[in-house]
Amino acid sequence: MTSWKSSYRWVVEWHSPDSGIISVASEILYSGRTKYQEVDIVRNDDYGKMLVLDGKFQSSLSDEFIYHEMLVHPALITQGNPRDVLIVGGGEGATLREVLRYRSVRRAVMVDIDGEVVEICRKYLPEMHQGSFDDPRTTLIIDDGRKFLRETKESFDAVLVDATDPIEGGPSRLLYTVEFYELVRSRLRENGVVATQGTSTFYNASTFARVMNTMRSVFPHVGGYQASIPSYISDWGFVVGSLGRDPASISPEEAEARARELGLSEFKYYEPSHHPYYFWLPPHVRRKVEEE
Ligand code: SAM
Repeated sequence: MTSWKSSYRWVVEWHSPDSGIISVASEILYSGRTKYQEVDIVRNDDYGKMLVLDGKFQSSLSDEFIYHEMLVHPALITQGNPRDVLIVGGGEGATLREVLRYRSVRRAVMVDIDGEVVEICRKYLPEMHQGSFDDPRTTLIIDDGRKFLRETKESFDAVLVDATDPIEGGPSRLLYTVEFYELVRSRLRENGVVATQGTSTFYNASTFARVMNTMRSVFPHVGGYQASIPSYISDWGFVVGSLGRDPASISPEEAEARARELGLSEFKYYEPSHHPYYFWLPPHVRRKVEEE
């Protein structure tokens, strides 16, 4: 069977012996379809094991630390004392892993719509979750993130949206709307924060701009930032919304002191001393946000 799965993030060609197409994936560890999406776990010579959903590359062992540290730490350091954290999506368990590093965290609730994806990641990507699913502070719920937020009576100090891109027909398309952010805000405590991946600030600059401006219509303080992720072949955008401090107002000294107090010793990408500077978007992205 030869099927061409492509996305701006990564062109993933499958090959069969007679197709002769040189595969980007040196080895296919798992390939299947769940109720919601196509799931592939492949090995690539440059990036190691990778998770691919609906032909869109999600994360690789080589550089997932960049994405997951940058989704979690600018928001939780801004919040300053996260105790109860909600993760929407996060199938691989790597966002969960980064959240559980905080000594202040007493509950990490992870709500992913696709239990099969979580189980496949649990089995094939232990290097990403590193046992975080089994941490006594973890509660894993298989549900749609929006539905969970509508029905829960719980409140949180932080909501981290680690979902797939908002593509037509995809399961996450309503997780980037005013209605969703209003729902998030209603479940956040005083000084609460929300963070989301915002897609590519280069290939999808208008989507990133819309995510940022949508969040701005609901939250008083919003910071957009990006990180270069080699295996995405792009700069990747993130957006933080805050009911308390403006994310960019946290000084390097404050961020360093908060990281120490929260028991965070070392990082592989996020730098507390760089915290406020992350929110200085380059002009070509900043102008796109202003234009949208
Ligand atoms: N790191 C990836 C990225 O860069 O976008 C995202 C990682 S994670 C695999 C994306 C997760 O979002 C998947 O496990 C998927 O099942 C989940 N997801 C998609 N739509 C969802 C929804 N409406 N509610 C909860 N989880 C959802």
